[in-house]
Amino acid sequence: MIINCKYCNHNYDITDKTLLDERIEMTKGERRAILRLIYFQCPNCGEIKPAMLDDKKSLYYAKRKLEAKTESVKRKHEERFANVRKKLIDEWQGGSFELAGVIHTFELNPDEEIKHQ
Ligand SMILES: [Zn+2]
Repeated sequence: MIINCKYCNHNYDITDKTLLDERIEMTKGERRAILRLIYFQCPNCGEIKPAMLDDKKSLYYAKRKLEAKTESVKRKHEERFANVRKKLIDEWQGGSFELAGVIHTFELNPDEEIKHQ
C-alpha cells in the first residue's frame, strides 16, 4: 500500500517508520479527550496524515476481539470496534491536537482512496 503526501506529493510505503501512533489530547470547542492517534508521517517533508483514532472503548473491543474464543463472538466485537472507530472519526472531525509541538487539525476521510501498488 502506498501513501501519497498531499503536502509534497511524495509517495511512500507503509513501514514502522512511517506508520506511527501517539497519545494525544484532542480538543474541539469545549470538549477534550485523550485519544490514541495512528498516523502516517511523510519521510520527505515530515507532514502527518491521520489514519485512525482509538479511545478506551475501541481499544477494549480490540482486546476482546483478540480474546474471543468463537467466530461469532469475535465478529460481534469486531463490529463494535469498527462502529466505535467510525464514531470517533465523525466526532472529532475538525478537532485540534498537538504533536511534537505542532498544532494539527484532525481531518480524516475514511473513504479516501489509498493507492494500491
Ligand atoms: Zn510530504
